[in-house]
Amino acid sequence: MKNNKEQTTMRWWGGLRTIGGNIVSLEYQDSRLIFDFGFIPHPNSEILGEKVKTRTSRFVHDYVSLEVAPAIDGIYEEEDVEQLQDLQSVQEDGKKTAVLVSHLHLDHIGSMGMLSPQIPIFLTEDSFRLYQALEVIGEGVRGYQPNLQACTYEESFQVGSFIVTPIQVDHDIPGACGFHIETPDGNLFYMGDFRMHGNHPERVEAAIQPVKERGVDIFMMEGTTLSDLEQKRRPLVPDPCIPDRMKTEADVPMKMRDILEEFEGIGIFNMYHRNVERLESILALNGEMDRTIVLEPETAYIADKLIDATDFSIYLSSETKEESMNNKMSKWKEELLQKYNTIDATIINQHPRKYFLQNSYENVLELLDLQVKDGVYLHSNAPPLGNYDPSYQH
Ligand SMILES: [Zn+2]
Repeated sequence: MKNNKEQTTMRWWGGLRTIGGNIVSLEYQDSRLIFDFGFIPHPNSEILGEKVKTRTSRFVHDYVSLEVAPAIDGIYEEEDVEQLQDLQSVQEDGKKTAVLVSHLHLDHIGSMGMLSPQIPIFLTEDSFRLYQALEVIGEGVRGYQPNLQACTYEESFQVGSFIVTPIQVDHDIPGACGFHIETPDGNLFYMGDFRMHGNHPERVEAAIQPVKERGVDIFMMEGTTLSDLEQKRRPLVPDPCIPDRMKTEADVPMKMRDILEEFEGIGIFNMYHRNVERLESILALNGEMDRTIVLEPETAYIADKLIDATDFSIYLSSETKEESMNNKMSKWKEELLQKYNTIDATIINQHPRKYFLQNSYENVLELLDLQVKDGVYLHSNAPPLGNYDPSYQH
């Protein structure tokens, strides 16, 4: 019989009662695995709202103190945690540690930049490519340059005493996977986020077999929408059918096209550009409608790097024009604007009916430059995401 120290231990640092922010650590002797590494939704995180300045020099210290980032030994730099009692830095700890990231949504990667650059972070090759693009357009995580290591679906790798195998699933972001983990005391599968109403439900079905072959003692799945069932104490009945009124990912572009046909003015859409497949399907509408698709430069960069579609124009906002005049434009943007056709508000306003323009919420004031009479605004699962965010009502 093993004593506790010789057994694999599992500990939850976040995500048991919150939407997202699930962080789990597994330890066996000198080996440690952690998955995923987003911000933990904690009442303290409200302190970090718009009215309080976050301190760059004390970033890790402050977030760990507020319990928005987990107080796990051996993952932070000495200088960041020296004032946090009982927390060992990576330099003091000496264990073999790695972090696994199932996909690049912020509730899974938000705290990644706090990790010591000594800690390897494994993510799939598709996620790695997307992260590189996000970094260029200024959407990388805050903090240290994360020590990213690309891994391949169904190719196992070892972290100390653990054997890890990424298994592809389908989610609204490229590169999403679950992780099968073999420990000295049993196997577990962490599913990551997934959906059955996407373009690849077969990936989720196909994930079952390799996981089964490797064996599972513990299965972990995020259950954001299960709380309702739990409260009503209704049984969880497996049913692979998509409910009648539910739209699938494949329905979205056609629905957009149908709505656009009903309007005589400009079409505007707001989407989350990490949803690269949706971006791709919107761009594929080009042949289906008599409107030019115009993207913000950041989204255009993602399309240019990750999608085989070049049939779009780039919106030249007054801010971008000013950057150009003051020689403050980043190199990636400069190159992109040379490569693609650019369109500004003056051109759009001559024939608003001819355009389908992307507008992120943070750039909503751009709409003041546009003729929006008889137009339509399509909010397609973009920030602000839902009623819980006060901006949603705006
Ligand atoms: Zn997600």
